[in-house]
Amino acid sequence: MIAVLKQDATIDQREHLISWLKEQGLDVHISVGREHTVLGLVGDTGKIDVELLQSLSIVESVKIISEPFKKVNRKFHPDNSVIDVPDCDVRIGDGSCVLIAGPAVIESREQLMSIARKVKEAGASVLHGDAFKPRTSPYAFQGLGREGIDILLEVKRETGLPVMSEIVNTNHIALYEDVDIIQVSSRSMQNYELLKELGTLRKPVLLKRGAANTLKELLMSAEYIMDGGNESIILCERGIRTWDFSDGAARNTLDISSVPALHEMTHLPVIVDPSHATGVASMVEPMALAAAACGADGLMIEVHDDPLHALCDGAQALTPEQFSAAAEKVRRVRSVLF
Ligand code: PEP
Ligand code: MN
Repeated sequence: MIAVLKQDATIDQREHLISWLKEQGLDVHISVGREHTVLGLVGDTGKIDVELLQSLSIVESVKIISEPFKKVNRKFHPDNSVIDVPDCDVRIGDGSCVLIAGPAVIESREQLMSIARKVKEAGASVLHGDAFKPRTSPYAFQGLGREGIDILLEVKRETGLPVMSEIVNTNHIALYEDVDIIQVSSRSMQNYELLKELGTLRKPVLLKRGAANTLKELLMSAEYIMDGGNESIILCERGIRTWDFSDGAARNTLDISSVPALHEMTHLPVIVDPSHATGVASMVEPMALAAAACGADGLMIEVHDDPLHALCDGAQALTPEQFSAAAEKVRRVRSVLF
C-alpha cells in the first residue's frame, strides 16, 4: 500500500503520521520525490483503516499495490533510483549509459591488465572479470578463484577502474570486500539464500535475469536484496530462452522490450548485456546500439585481446578495437537521442 502526501504537508505532520503507521506494526519506506512524497507501507496493511488514512488532511491518495514486488516497485518510489558506486564517480541510472567491459573470465594478471587499460581508454567506467565461473561443463575452465580476485583488485589499484565480479556462493562474501559491484549471474538469480546475504551488504549488486525467468520473477529476486536493506541494485537483461526463430543464429533472444517494461515497473536502473544475449561477436555492436537507443542505463560487453584463444566465451568477445568503435557509436546514439 502507498500513501501519497499532499505537497503542503509539513515535516512534523509527516513524522506524526509515520510514527502512527509504525505503531500499527508497519514498515514505512519514505520516498521524497520531485513532485510528491510517497510513503510505502509494508507488512499487514489489512490492519489499516484505508478510509481513515485517506481522510487525513495531509494525505492526497492511498493506493493498494497489487504486484507482489513492493520496495522495487515504481509506485513505491516514483523517481529513478541512481546507484552510486562508492569511492568513484560512477553513477548508474542518472540518464547516462555506463559502459562495463572486460573478459568473461580472468585468465592471468597480464591478460586482465592489458584489457583493462584498453577498455578504460575506450570509455569503459567499470571493469568486469570473473574469478568464479559457473560453467555448463564440469570439465570447462572454472576460473582462478581467490587468485582471480587478487588479480582483479591489483588491476583496480593500478588502473583506477572500479571492478565488478560474479559471486557464486555466500561463503565467498568476505572476498568481495573491495570489489565495487557484486554480480549475480543468470544461473544464480533465484539463489534466495545468496540474495538475502547480499541484502545485508551496503554495496551495489548487479542482478542478471535468468535465462528462463519472467520480469516479475526478476523483480521478486531484487525485492529479496532490497528487503534486507541494500537498495543499490542494478538489473541486467542478458537474453532469454524462448522459441528459437533464429535457428540457432544467436545464443539467446535479447528481450529488448524488457528495458522499457522494467523502467515502467521499477525505479531501479536497467542495463543490457548484448554479449551473452547473442553469443556472437558480430551481433554485439548492433544490439548494444539498440539497447542504448531504447534507454538502457548501461551496457555490459565482453572484451578479449585474443578471442580465438579465450578460455571462456571467445565467440562473443569483441577485440579492444571493436569495443572502442562500438563505444563511440553508443555515445553518438545517446547524444542524438538523449
Ligand atoms: C557473466 O556475465 O559473466 C555471465 C556468466 O553471464 P550470464 O549469467 O548472463 O550467463
Ligand atoms: Mn561470459
